[in-house]
Amino acid sequence: MADTRKPKAAITHIGNHELSPATLMMSHGYDPVLSEGSLKAPIFLTSTFAFPSAADGKRFFEGITGKVPGGTDGLVYSRFNGPNQQILEGRLALWDGAEEALCFSSGMTAITVLMLALCNAGDVIVHSGPLYAASEGFVAKHMSRFGVTYRDFPAGATRAEIEAVIEDAKALAAKQGGKVAMIYLESPANPTNALVDVEAVRDARNAALGAECPIAIDNTFLGPLWARPIDQGADLVVYSLTKYVGGHSDLVAGSVSGAKKWLTPIRMLRNTMGGIADPNTAWMLLRSLETVELRMARAGENAAKVCAWLKDHPKVEGLGYLGMIDDPRQQDIYGRHCSGAGSTFSLLLKGGEAECFRFLDALRIAKLAVSLGGTETLASHPASMTHLSVPDERKAALGITDNLVRISIGIEAADDLIADFEQALAAV
Ligand SMILES: *Cc1c(COP(=O)(O)O)cnc(C)c1O
Repeated sequence: MADTRKPKAAITHIGNHELSPATLMMSHGYDPVLSEGSLKAPIFLTSTFAFPSAADGKRFFEGITGKVPGGTDGLVYSRFNGPNQQILEGRLALWDGAEEALCFSSGMTAITVLMLALCNAGDVIVHSGPLYAASEGFVAKHMSRFGVTYRDFPAGATRAEIEAVIEDAKALAAKQGGKVAMIYLESPANPTNALVDVEAVRDARNAALGAECPIAIDNTFLGPLWARPIDQGADLVVYSLTKYVGGHSDLVAGSVSGAKKWLTPIRMLRNTMGGIADPNTAWMLLRSLETVELRMARAGENAAKVCAWLKDHPKVEGLGYLGMIDDPRQQDIYGRHCSGAGSTFSLLLKGGEAECFRFLDALRIAKLAVSLGGTETLASHPASMTHLSVPDERKAALGITDNLVRISIGIEAADDLIADFEQALAAV
């Protein structure tokens, strides 16, 4: 007996015309007929789902447990799946051009379950550096406890440099009796804003390992609007949905999208460990996704205006903003990979910590907080906050200087933000 609770087949085209994700965010994967005509999806607060028949229950479990490959087509138990999460996952996959997506209770849950699912003892992870501190720490401090080691290359590396690191990792893996299990990227790197050449990583991977080693990338800073790394050869795209996708600084969540072949083991481990986003958070993300393109476009325009104003200010030493790249190689990657410069950048003031603190304490509209991608503008001082525990030499190597302020521009009126920065710089 068919499960009649499934939504109708999703529309993605009208004739030959392909609908854009911006349009599909209001409809994809949800049919009001299944919920008393409720235009918007209700929040399904339940721990478990009633099966239409015993045979259906058996079939659903065959999918959940992997006894029959391909996953389940039914709703079973809220640690495995739920309507809000399934609608969300379908809509997230559209933005990345991915076959499927999985949602998680945080970005770090997505990243840690991804790594645990795809690595075995003896394996090596090759990653770009620097990574988000918790991601880098998980690889170095926790994966190592299970016999998984790593090799890294700097975010701006060339194809030849990347290939040399992969070859080194391959030799290490052979010695450890494992394989290079994944290449894990983060682009742009925080707070340097160095972009990773995903096409060069793909070519180096294909030459050294073949396509059986997945390339995963943390696309939190530019996705889903300004970068679609699957188009450049990434296999898995990771998000902290806490940032631009959630976009209102009122939730914590994460996701991984990509081909079913890579997501199946990740889904199986999520089924076992938990870590799926809860129904309320998934519902909030559905609301957020309806405006993600509007919010990101506005924030991006604001950042361009603010940076154009900041650039020539006498108290400003420089800007780390993707809309103003000096390095020709980085500019080339930007041209091939990005459709926008984002709204998160580094502001270098003349002076050091004291000048930065005076600037931060004087801000009237921008809030002093870490995180990014929300509707409101945030500013912080990485050297004394997010990167406080990073050793001094590593800080220097990463360009995390005492005069660096990290800024995430929101969707306020650009003129108001400029007025705020003007008066705060006057206080420095
Ligand atoms: C915030 C962030 C994460 C972690 O996400 P949480 O939702 O806080 O767990 C991972 N990667 C990047 C680039 C981030 O900015």
